[in-house]
Amino acid sequence: MPEAIEIYEERMRALIRPKASLQKLANGAAHSEGPVYFHEDNSVVWSDAHGNRLLRWSASDNVSVLRDPSDYQSGNYRDLEGRLVACSSGLRAIIRREHDGEWKILVDRYQGKHLNSPNDLVVKSDGTIWFTDPPYGITQPNQGYGGKQEQTGSYVYRFAPATREIYPVVTDMVCPNGLAFSPDERLLYVSDTAAFNISGGPHHIRVYEVVDGRYVTNGRVFAVIEPGQPDGLRVDEHGNVFTSSKDSVQVYAPDGTRLGKILVPEICANLTFGGKERDRLFITAGKSLYAIDLNTRGVQQ
Ligand code: MG
Repeated sequence: MPEAIEIYEERMRALIRPKASLQKLANGAAHSEGPVYFHEDNSVVWSDAHGNRLLRWSASDNVSVLRDPSDYQSGNYRDLEGRLVACSSGLRAIIRREHDGEWKILVDRYQGKHLNSPNDLVVKSDGTIWFTDPPYGITQPNQGYGGKQEQTGSYVYRFAPATREIYPVVTDMVCPNGLAFSPDERLLYVSDTAAFNISGGPHHIRVYEVVDGRYVTNGRVFAVIEPGQPDGLRVDEHGNVFTSSKDSVQVYAPDGTRLGKILVPEICANLTFGGKERDRLFITAGKSLYAIDLNTRGVQQ
């Protein structure tokens, strides 16, 4: 096994290619977050969340700046038409890059009040956008433009771009941050990063059962993540959960067993599957973008 891998359970071995190594693809960001893969040109777009820029890496052109300033863009994803959709912590909105390159605000309010500061999002197979809304963009000076919290809590919302319907689906977390569906979309995993600035706050991933593709129920703690806290997470084709943590990307089986770690030399914030076969894991950590080849494939994007 490569040096960068710690194995706690034999199932981990099958997920990693024997000769794979962690590669640093780019550095120089203030805080790398929200990677999203573009198979059309083998590129990764990610947020320099504290540097207020949007960056792009590609195998052929190396690194370029896509947006500066980016209004503190955080999590990125692609919709069913391949458009980039993103959380804007600065605009306190969900935004989308249209086919002509223009950026458009899709939603920035719930019940007439500003959202806190959307952090991360996923697009479900029905085109709805599920996103987390912790207050970091209004409480942390390097993650947004400040402002007053208008919502009564930090929720996970379901937003339907087609009808503009928006409502909270998860209301029992402190600081929901990263999220991902299981391969069959019957489960929703959401990380809570409250421990980041609340002493004794949660640093775990909760899992919920999805009802009719519209609501969730029966939430419970799936895994407590240490060291640090979980931020972004993704799920592979077997339902394994890959989550960021302070020292690594940690891998959990669907039953909650921790299988192993992919050690990363900077604090991990987020990750995504990419590559032609969706078997390459791209990791945003600290000031950098990393990648490692796996023996498993991501289910989303
Ligand atoms: Mg995040």
